[in-house]
Amino acid sequence: MNFTTDYDEIVSLIDKIDPSSYAKSRNYIDGAVTRLSPYISRGVISTKQVLERTLERGFEPGKMEKFTQELAWRDHWQQNWIAKGREINSDLKRTQTPVSNTGVPAAVLNAHTGIDGIDQGIQELYATGYMHNHVRMYTAAMVCNMAYSHWLNPARWMYFNLLDADWASNALSWQWVAGANANKKYVANQENINRYCHTSQQGTFLDVDYSVFKYPNYEENPPKSASPTDLDYKTPDELIETKLLSLITPLPEKTAVSVLAEIPTYIYNWYNLDPKWDSERKANRVLLLEPSIFEEYPISEKSVAFMLNLGKNIAGLQVYVGEFSKFVDEYQLKDIHFKEHPLNSHYRGIEHSRDWMFDIKGFHSSFFGFWKKAKKQFRY
Ligand SMILES: Cc1cc2nc3c(=O)[nH]c(=O)nc-3n(C[C@H](O)[C@H](O)[C@H](O)COP(=O)(O)OP(=O)(O)OC[C@H]3O[C@@H](n4cnc5c(N)ncnc54)[C@H](O)[C@@H]3O)c2cc1C
Repeated sequence: MNFTTDYDEIVSLIDKIDPSSYAKSRNYIDGAVTRLSPYISRGVISTKQVLERTLERGFEPGKMEKFTQELAWRDHWQQNWIAKGREINSDLKRTQTPVSNTGVPAAVLNAHTGIDGIDQGIQELYATGYMHNHVRMYTAAMVCNMAYSHWLNPARWMYFNLLDADWASNALSWQWVAGANANKKYVANQENINRYCHTSQQGTFLDVDYSVFKYPNYEENPPKSASPTDLDYKTPDELIETKLLSLITPLPEKTAVSVLAEIPTYIYNWYNLDPKWDSERKANRVLLLEPSIFEEYPISEKSVAFMLNLGKNIAGLQVYVGEFSKFVDEYQLKDIHFKEHPLNSHYRGIEHSRDWMFDIKGFHSSFFGFWKKAKKQFRY
């Protein structure tokens, strides 16, 4: 499946959402999911816009609860990123344990784990830049809770390949699966994968009862550290070989831009490609690609191309490859505008707020704490 980069087509996809079949089928690999995350993550459209436009189509808010809740997960993770900053780059709630390596299982990288639902999902990720939520969970569970890899490098591998790469949703979901940002670990066995991926495999290394994944009293008394040998579930041979990856973003060459001193400069980036942002205003519009950001959070060639194509929706957008401070000095910029984002804290100028579905700020250690407040604002 290809992801369009045409703004009108993107907006028309919002009108295809069917919240009730979404609620019934979203966990299935062929369920009625929206595939809007590449556009929401890139800041082309917002969760608020998706929610409001869907409500305008006449769906009853009470019948849209599951869909609204899923959209709210993104805002929740984003707020936690704003609140915690770089702390989300390490184990947030508790140390992931046990951990036997910091790589990524080679079988996962090669889409050759032997679990068809997962292998097909990884192939889809490489081919399209998208992976279904359930398969993301299965993959992360296999990596963290069966191969006992620490979550960080595998998360960077997945982020690199996703068109919807969003470090908050990514790092915090990986940590949630690994039990570093949750009170328990997420695991799935073959029966679960068969049901949601429509496969019928038997006798695989995941064809086991859930009890084998249990660390004694893990939930009541989580260990500060544990060894994989303390657990009944031993890493299957298929997952033992791991690799450390060197991920490099193929940024375009730096070229000169042309800016007019008498008009403001609007800065766009990997997380903000909103074509409607003050679009009636005369301004220099520049997509700023900072090598330091992409060194820390690398993205694939497919993702770079996706970003540049989405940028074509923004009239007159020019691309500058370099750091913010260098850009400002080189062009003597004065009236600079940008959208708030945790990776923009070093920008200077006029900060514009992002769209949010609810007026809820700050860190929430659980989604349900966030959702309880959200529900009060989302009355029905
Ligand atoms: C290990 C792991 C890594 C992930 N990495 C990312 C990532 O890098 N970028 C990313 O955008 N999402 C990530 N997610 C969350 C989720 O998988 C995707 O947002 C979702 O699959 C996107 O597909 P969709 O648009 O078809 O979602 P739909 O099911 O149609 O949901 C509609 C929208 O709701 C939001 N949403 C739904 N589920 C989640 C969720 N669990 N967390 C946050 N927002 C959600 C998204 O904005 C999505 O576009 C990750 C989840 C896991 C388990």
